[in-house]
Amino acid sequence: MSGAVGGPTGSPEDWGMETRAVRAGTRRSEFGEHSEAVFLTSSFVFESAAQAAARFSGSEDGNVYSRFSNPTVAMFEQRLAAMEGGEACIATGSGMAAITTCAMTLLSAGDHAVVSRSVFGATTNLFENILSRFGVSATYVSPTDPGEWEAAMRPETRMLYLETPSNPLAEIADVQAIAAIARGRGAALVVDNCFCTPVLQRPLSQGADIVIHSATKYIDGQGRVLGGAIVGSREYIDKKVLPFLRTAGPSLSPFNAWVLLKGLETLPLRMRQQSANALAVARWLEAHPMVERVLFPGLESHPQFALAARQQDAPGAILSFVVRGEGASLDDARAIVRPDEPIESARGRAAAWRVIDGCELLSITGNLGDTRTTITHPASTTHGRLPPAARAAAGIGEGLVRLSVGLESPEDICADLSRGLAEGG
Ligand SMILES: *Cc1c(COP(=O)(O)O)cnc(C)c1O
Repeated sequence: MSGAVGGPTGSPEDWGMETRAVRAGTRRSEFGEHSEAVFLTSSFVFESAAQAAARFSGSEDGNVYSRFSNPTVAMFEQRLAAMEGGEACIATGSGMAAITTCAMTLLSAGDHAVVSRSVFGATTNLFENILSRFGVSATYVSPTDPGEWEAAMRPETRMLYLETPSNPLAEIADVQAIAAIARGRGAALVVDNCFCTPVLQRPLSQGADIVIHSATKYIDGQGRVLGGAIVGSREYIDKKVLPFLRTAGPSLSPFNAWVLLKGLETLPLRMRQQSANALAVARWLEAHPMVERVLFPGLESHPQFALAARQQDAPGAILSFVVRGEGASLDDARAIVRPDEPIESARGRAAAWRVIDGCELLSITGNLGDTRTTITHPASTTHGRLPPAARAAAGIGEGLVRLSVGLESPEDICADLSRGLAEGG
């Protein structure tokens, strides 16, 4: 096809998202394979001692050792960078490896980070229990109030870190507003784009400096492998991340990179369909008499509906809802009430558990981003280790249920939920 008639040219920057998802980063070996090859090799051979020396020193491009160079991993990195609109990418063995690598390459002893209060639990643990031992401090702020970010900035602040939408309350952080706070102060804004993926939101185009992924979630999308990635400028990736990867080794396996490449091919289709399914389920839940509240950025009732509509191409596929505690019987609540816990909060939990246990189709699991809808009770699982007061302050009540909506028919998802939501129990 020729660029003159508007078809794709040879350069991913000219391609639409779907074309990038199936074509960007592809490299063929001498065998001319159509589907990307899996290079399951730990090292690479050289034609001569001189070539080996040149490859090791970096004066000649080419693969050396799969801790930091592998063609299958490189194909995944280039495809994801093209989809995010970033210059370069390094893949890692998990999302947490990506976040750790990012922190280790941006922060030194004495530095400070401003972190959204609503980030993945292990990310908070990383700052609290690990980075703190190396002299890095962090201040936690509301993702929805840029004023708190501004107030938390210090001369030694080097990193601002957020997820949007947040888990499980679907709060939206204003990336442009927070990027403006970081700009010109020697601090990088890092956005974990796990929930939207580049298909629905491209933080780099809104002023973020670095995008993080847990590829384990939507990018795989079928619950098979762990993976992670860091997308940023060529300068940051080549000068900071690559040397860290080469030294510390948080590397992605070539096999997992191949699975994730296949995941990227269908990501645009999956994200748009799952997001549409989630909107249908959210509307149905909002009209249900036993549901007190639905938290989903695609509903007009969401406090940041307008911001989400501006910042994202679609609302995404994670939603939470609060089940009415009065729906639970007192006997159910008495059976699970904890010492010193008010019966009202046990009733909320009993009502939420009844919805979850009523499901025959949906999977009861903490994972998200799968083609299969998953259902979770955050207060007793993913957020169960938080002290009850901190949980309540974070808005994660006992009646809250989180759904990661998949590719089933929305009618079947609603029919499954309606079993446990039936009035009167
Ligand atoms: C799961 C998750 C992570 C961690 O990713 P792993 O691949 O499990 O290490 C980080 N951020 C978000 C938002 C996640 O959901």
